[in-house]
Amino acid sequence: MATIFTKIIRGEIPCYKIAENEECFAFLDINPLAKGHTLVVPKAEIDYILDIDDKLLAELAIFSKKVAKAIEKSIPCKRIAFAVVGMEVPHTHVHLVPIQSEADVGFTKPKLKLPQDEMEKIAEKIRSYFL
Ligand code: AMP
Repeated sequence: MATIFTKIIRGEIPCYKIAENEECFAFLDINPLAKGHTLVVPKAEIDYILDIDDKLLAELAIFSKKVAKAIEKSIPCKRIAFAVVGMEVPHTHVHLVPIQSEADVGFTKPKLKLPQDEMEKIAEKIRSYFL
């Protein structure tokens, strides 16, 4: 069965899309740790990041870096945390989280629930800086 992220990539489930290329797809996390929290996934449905071949892993990292640079320009923050957890959805995803301090990237802390129009505005702004 397709993962929820494959369904998002196929357009079967809506998302706040940021960008895509041949191999990768980026969209806002629906329950963000911070405004601008974005997920980057390979289009290939591979559960565990350590099972990804080197070429695709490099592509995922390079594409994530480009997305992270766009988030950095859109959301006031000190850094973009670049993390992989993967305990919930069995489809590799890089979390890009704008942070002010280490405490902002605690994956067990309560998530934000932002209104749809705010999520759309955030996505639009990040997209505008994506090169
Ligand atoms: P983890 O697998 O622990 O790295 O976390 C999975 C992440 O996917 C969580 O941060 C969820 O909020 C996020 N997530 C789950 N479903 C969706 C969805 N439909 N759209 C965007 N993000 C999602």
